[in-house]
Amino acid sequence: MKVLRSVAEARGFRASAAGSVGLVPTMGALHEGHASLIERAVRESDVAIVSIFVNPTQFGPKEDFAAYPRDEAADLAVCERLGVAMVFAPAVDEMYPAGDATRVQPGPVAARLEGAARPGHFAGVATVLTKLFAIIRPDVAYFGQKDFQQLRVVQIMSRDLRLGVRVVGCATVRDPDGLAMSSRNRYLSADDRRTGLALARGLRAAEDAWTRGERDPAKLREIVQRSVSAAPGVALDYVSVADPLTLEELERPAERAVISLAGRVGKTRLIDNVLLGIALEKIA
Ligand code: AMP
Repeated sequence: MKVLRSVAEARGFRASAAGSVGLVPTMGALHEGHASLIERAVRESDVAIVSIFVNPTQFGPKEDFAAYPRDEAADLAVCERLGVAMVFAPAVDEMYPAGDATRVQPGPVAARLEGAARPGHFAGVATVLTKLFAIIRPDVAYFGQKDFQQLRVVQIMSRDLRLGVRVVGCATVRDPDGLAMSSRNRYLSADDRRTGLALARGLRAAEDAWTRGERDPAKLREIVQRSVSAAPGVALDYVSVADPLTLEELERPAERAVISLAGRVGKTRLIDNVLLGIALEKIA
């Protein structure tokens, strides 16, 4: 497995790659959620590439860029074990050269939910992924359902900018207790973890109601809110019942939806979502 740090080397590697190239962009601190994306890339592509880059432009000034967990040695061991051909792990000034000022501005799909809670976040995400796609020129890039709005932002960006990258969603990997895996779960104490489970529980309650036939978005929102508020210790940021392609809030009953939520447990912000009435593979 090659570990490359310069854009020039990564381009050179790409130019000599034979067959299809699959890319898994990550910010490192890899867990089983990342591993499931990497396994799929290895399985489906001739050459699997993982990028590890904690992207400063997607963090707000009061967010945890400096404190974001970093463990490159462990990450490289995971990639090696899973059969990755190349890890691209550039320094910040390699991705953002001196004087860098260009930003990719995503459309309305980025305006709500995480985009509203974290101004500038998706412009940072879209910018770094445009750079990574231009350097690696993957045939397919793999993203987790865990960050569902990000998946849609990147799919729409790749389509709109004619980047030629197929952007594929992969199911959320959960701990056995139901908590969606996240690099930020490392910040949680045992108590916080138990508290944070209320988010997944709220989504499950709405999913059960959906299975029983509930389609009213206001009712579904209320079921999640009630379930999460029953557990003290979670400060809900938002609960959204939205169209799974546009992420516009549903006003009327619909046959497909994505329910997303964000909440804070102590200082840690957690997000999760569930897709209803449409398979993840159909989201493209
Ligand atoms: P991150 O390192 O947090 O930027 O995540 C890199 C990729 O892994 C993103 O596409 C995430 O959506 C995905 N990912 C993160 N957590 C999970 C999870 N629990 N299950 C599936 N994919 C995940």
